[in-house]
Amino acid sequence: METHIGIIGGGILGIALARALAFKGEHRITVLEKEATLASHQTGRNSGVVHAGLYYQPGSLKAQLCARGKALTREYCQEHALPYRELGKLVVALGDGQLGRLADMEQRAIANQVPGLARLSRDELVQIEPHVAGIAALHSPQTASVDYGAITRSMAGEVQAAGGQILLNSEVTAVKVSDQACLVSTTENTHRFDQLIVCAGLQSDVIARMVGADPSPKILPFRGEYWVMSKSSSAMVNGMIYPVPDPRFPFLGVHFTRGVYDEVHVGPNAVPALAREGYDWKTFSFKDTMESLRWPGASSLVKKYWKTGATEIGASLIKPLYLKQSKAYLPELQSADLVKKGKAGVRAQAWSKDGSLLDDFAVDQVGPVTVLRNAPSPAATSAMAIADYVLDRYPVGKAR
Ligand SMILES: Cc1cc2nc3c(=O)[nH]c(=O)nc-3n(C[C@H](O)[C@H](O)[C@H](O)COP(=O)(O)OP(=O)(O)OC[C@H]3O[C@@H](n4cnc5c(N)ncnc54)[C@H](O)[C@@H]3O)c2cc1C
Repeated sequence: METHIGIIGGGILGIALARALAFKGEHRITVLEKEATLASHQTGRNSGVVHAGLYYQPGSLKAQLCARGKALTREYCQEHALPYRELGKLVVALGDGQLGRLADMEQRAIANQVPGLARLSRDELVQIEPHVAGIAALHSPQTASVDYGAITRSMAGEVQAAGGQILLNSEVTAVKVSDQACLVSTTENTHRFDQLIVCAGLQSDVIARMVGADPSPKILPFRGEYWVMSKSSSAMVNGMIYPVPDPRFPFLGVHFTRGVYDEVHVGPNAVPALAREGYDWKTFSFKDTMESLRWPGASSLVKKYWKTGATEIGASLIKPLYLKQSKAYLPELQSADLVKKGKAGVRAQAWSKDGSLLDDFAVDQVGPVTVLRNAPSPAATSAMAIADYVLDRYPVGKAR
């Protein structure tokens, strides 16, 4: 008998999984997405970078699936005539104090076999990005820009062509799991599935609780905001310019990214969001904020990051402070060059009860339900590889 598999979430992960299952041709697939359009959250609100694997712990899922995901994404964009620009990235050390961390990163990148990786001197780095400050850099020539929303919509077309169903405006409000089936209630209907996959991004822990999984880890929402550079000033950036990340902090730091449609974005920063889908300071959810504040790990998180947090919040609210941070890399940048705020995104980063972040991708299995529990960056790059990994290692899509 045909297995009916439900997938909660119409971001790039849910759709990549639906596509991989649809291509097997053995199952009935239904994707439930609460919004009116696909890719409305993280997938449509990110830097659009296809990462080449510089940062990740060698051997980790992030390292393995990013490398494979990058290759699959490139191939997919070529086959489907979707934009893919291999503009290359520089990770720039501003002073001697950052050279040790740059060297550590180089070792990781070598272990991860980042293609074309090169260590550059000041003279060499200005050949690639003439306006950048810095004394040394790592160059990753194959780091690329794409439109993850367009990739998701294209894959969704393939799912539908293969007979899969994608139901928009279908918010999952309750899930009842038994050995035999999953009864999934949406605002519209109740669906009966044999197996269920949860790819709900910022809501993944909420759905995880509905299916009876451990409430930990929890998603603590951190917004990333961007400024858009004016057309004339954007000529100062050829590809991507990144800081050397501080390993004590989970995010990569504000960077300059030339996207597929040629706009240059400066960001994302990292500020606490006052709602899971809080894309600006005005969006406040009492429930989400109280849940974050009551989380046992919240106090140790605040203790650890309050200084960085205060700097980030200051730069979010006061443009000259954001400019000052950005000018460290592009000294010629002026306030008028940052013309408008871009589309912000909120990261679905999972945190444990002790306030530590879950570094690697994480998947839970609860009976017939497979829950993608932690899929932050580079999960968009890795989406197609994550889909293959989940179908290979977890019971979903196999006879029970
Ligand atoms: C600021 C920022 C920059 C980033 N930059 C990059 C980058 O350059 N490169 C990269 O590889 N990654 C990047 N990422 C990470 C990347 O965007 C995510 O890892 C990826 O999009 C995760 O996809 P997803 O499908 O899991 O989540 P999402 O895209 O968030 O999709 C989850 C979906 O589930 C739906 N959903 C939630 N709850 C329900 C419910 N109850 N019922 C039905 N549907 C529901 C949501 O509406 C949503 O559409 C970035 C992320 C952010 C926030």
